[in-house]
Amino acid sequence: MGIADQTLVKKINQKLILNEILKNSPISRAKLSEVTGLNKSTISSQVSTLIQENFIFEIGEGQSSGGRRPVMLVFNKNAGYSIGIDIGVDYINGVLTDLEGNIVLDKFQNSLNFSSDNIKDSLFKIIKDFIDCMPQSPYGLVGIGISVPGLVDREQRIVFMPNLKWNIPDLKVLIQDAFNVPVFVENEANAGAYGEKVFGSTKHFNNIIYVSINVGIGIGIIINNELYRGINGFSGEMGHMTIDFNGLKCSCGNRGCWELYASEKALLNSLQKNEKQLSFEEIDELVHQNDVEVLNSLQNFGFYIGIGLTSILNTFDAQAIVLRNSIVESNPIVLKSIKNAVSSRISTQIDNNYELVPSSLGKNAAALGTSSIVIEHFLDIVTT
Ligand SMILES: [Zn+2]
Repeated sequence: MGIADQTLVKKINQKLILNEILKNSPISRAKLSEVTGLNKSTISSQVSTLIQENFIFEIGEGQSSGGRRPVMLVFNKNAGYSIGIDIGVDYINGVLTDLEGNIVLDKFQNSLNFSSDNIKDSLFKIIKDFIDCMPQSPYGLVGIGISVPGLVDREQRIVFMPNLKWNIPDLKVLIQDAFNVPVFVENEANAGAYGEKVFGSTKHFNNIIYVSINVGIGIGIIINNELYRGINGFSGEMGHMTIDFNGLKCSCGNRGCWELYASEKALLNSLQKNEKQLSFEEIDELVHQNDVEVLNSLQNFGFYIGIGLTSILNTFDAQAIVLRNSIVESNPIVLKSIKNAVSSRISTQIDNNYELVPSSLGKNAAALGTSSIVIEHFLDIVTT
């Protein structure tokens, strides 16, 4: 075996060992050898390297009442930090996380008037604030992930933002040049799907459809544990599937698109009182008061969501559908209405074999998703 080959084998082994420690920390060297099939001397030398590089550390050495405890290896989640930012139509939500994705700090900013200039200023400020508050660590900031509610191509350029007045196609380059760390730009629904896959209640499933219901509707597709982006990166635009071929005209050029009926915007429009849009708090309060009009609107909202989900389930036969929407998450009546609509339309074989759950990460799903993309990339390059 040549020297180049030996170096490659060492790197592959190191990655295998680090992955195992990430999944099963704390773990002993003996157990590592058992689960990876690598011999003890390989484990020993690779573990020493990982300790030297601050990725792992030892615990459990010394006497305890029951005798000497075995030395266990633990992943050093504080070796570095990652930033994940989700830019919505009318908000920016950011998280600073450790390398296990635990939120160290979060920031939320609401605005109805984002333009290309002020979105840049707001983004820079949030990132700078995070960096200023970041604890000292061996690797510091390992990267920044940003999600946007629009089409992002394979080169991570933002090519289309249907519901926004601004666009910075080269946002990735702009942030990368300013902060000098790797930057990843991802579509919001893809990022949310990834967040749920890595950190959410559906992390044990390999095939998930994440449905993000906001001003529009987008879906993120996880097939066999991997994000499916499509050839150009534009998969999951199911908000524009036709549910009424003679229906309302959509900004995409089609008619009767699903999101014209089942988006949060459609619900809020249906609930407009005297030209004034209700806030989420007002909706919750009216539900609490058993307001018939609001309860009917929520039921219709669930019904329209269910119509689209039936087609999605028929297409993907997924293990779980995760719904990301604040109103769905806080009002069980909507989830019930969705389930009724799906059950009355789908074959029993599919109906009995999937889970329909509200997002467990809520508004942080996409920000955590982009942060986890950053972390994965970092751990990947340090072991290759
Ligand atoms: Zn459309």
